[in-house]
Amino acid sequence: MKPTFYVTTPIYYVNDVPHIGHAYTTLAADVLARYKRLKGFDVFFLTGTDEHGQKVEKAANTAGETPLELADRVMKRFQSLWEKLGISNTDFIRTTQERHKKGAASMFEKVMQQGDIYLGEYEDWYCTPCETFWTETQLIDYKCPDCNRPTEKLKEESYFFRMSKYQEQLLAHIEANPDFIQPKSRRNEILSFVKEGLRDLSVSRTTFQWGIPVPGNEKHVIYVWFDALTNYLTALGYPAEGGDVAKFWPVDVQLIGKDILRFHTVYWPTFLMAAGLPIPKKVFAHGWWTVEGQKMSKSLQNVVEPNMLIEKYGVDAVRYFLLREVPFGLDGDFSHAALVNRINSDLANDLGNLLNRSTAMLGKYFGGVLEAPAEETALDAALREKTVDMVQQVNQQLEELAFSKALQSIWEVISAGNKYIDETAPWTLAKDPALKGRLGTVMYYMLESQRVVHSLLSAFMPKTAEKALGYLGVTEAPDEKSLCWGGLKPGTAIARAEALFPRIEEKGE
Ligand SMILES: [Zn+2]
Repeated sequence: MKPTFYVTTPIYYVNDVPHIGHAYTTLAADVLARYKRLKGFDVFFLTGTDEHGQKVEKAANTAGETPLELADRVMKRFQSLWEKLGISNTDFIRTTQERHKKGAASMFEKVMQQGDIYLGEYEDWYCTPCETFWTETQLIDYKCPDCNRPTEKLKEESYFFRMSKYQEQLLAHIEANPDFIQPKSRRNEILSFVKEGLRDLSVSRTTFQWGIPVPGNEKHVIYVWFDALTNYLTALGYPAEGGDVAKFWPVDVQLIGKDILRFHTVYWPTFLMAAGLPIPKKVFAHGWWTVEGQKMSKSLQNVVEPNMLIEKYGVDAVRYFLLREVPFGLDGDFSHAALVNRINSDLANDLGNLLNRSTAMLGKYFGGVLEAPAEETALDAALREKTVDMVQQVNQQLEELAFSKALQSIWEVISAGNKYIDETAPWTLAKDPALKGRLGTVMYYMLESQRVVHSLLSAFMPKTAEKALGYLGVTEAPDEKSLCWGGLKPGTAIARAEALFPRIEEKGE
């Protein structure tokens, strides 16, 4: 049986327009999913939309439509963006789907039946936009510490989840599993939060209707985060425990933005503990993007529209830039100049030029047909070893979700390939018919190294890799064997490659 791998993005709130932040998380998950498939894993890759809650209800009222009409409209924007961005998700869950509502209500009921959800009364400071209650000490000038908007004192009958009961168990779990919360700075943040003490959590609302009713008490709807977080299980068919739940749970990697860290590393694992289910293996919180040095905001109108970026620069340039520019986990800045610079230097010059010049040489010297390599020199061995090492390095780096480092490792081999051509000087070898065997060996090494590079790059830039591998005479989709040295067969006809990435000339710069 194949090993399994389950990766998730958060489900995105339909009261939001898709921006570069959503694209970033989803793209990172896609690269992991594609890489694991390449390595022979049976992959489940989940994304979707979070469609309940007061904000959606209010926005729908304002727009003169039902909440579901609003959700239908907005979820399509996410779906069409993922198509454009080449996202290979297995499933797309919507919290308004029956399968989800049934599963979420069932988990709520299960936790209630065993006594970890009880009815009480809640009074505290409430931030309506954030749908969060705050204690007085958490407020800053009586404003919400998350969004800085005014809060109001609110009292309501509410169901509570006994989160306090799981404080020690959660702490022990975080301490025993250093990989559970990443990066380390986030882990430390959550450790100190849990150590301060967990309060019981209000998990129902009576102030609006747009949600999943609490089983047995329809006056209440289930708190949006309890509802939303369960999507990672309901998509697998929960409450059924066999099938995909047995196959893929616990989830291997949950990718999130750092703003929703506490929900995923405190609320979610304690819900799971109460429901008697295993906890996610890894939750990784990435950083935020600023745009041209400024915080993204609708009012500044600098929200980077990913569709526009893809149309302007091409899907793979955008995929490459987002994961290469900034170490995953840190904050980054998006600028058009930086993107253009990456396209021109890394993609057009290094990657594209190497393929272009080496396939052109094979055409010129051997009529485009690959010769069998003869004796290996020290220069050849160095390129082969660097290529083989890269495969191991990238594997390790992707285990650590170090996407930028992984791309750097790949680019080191691309640079080594360009250097290899300069050092072996095929144009000089070509002048001496006695060195024809040596020339054929050089052609083989420089092209074989690129075949491995593009097989690996198929996880990051699927369209470009497919094109490049096509030029190299490889017609099958890459698999684990493609990452081994020696895949190119002598006698293969190799076409002269056109530019993979045309240079972008910036006007007025
Ligand atoms: Zn707020």
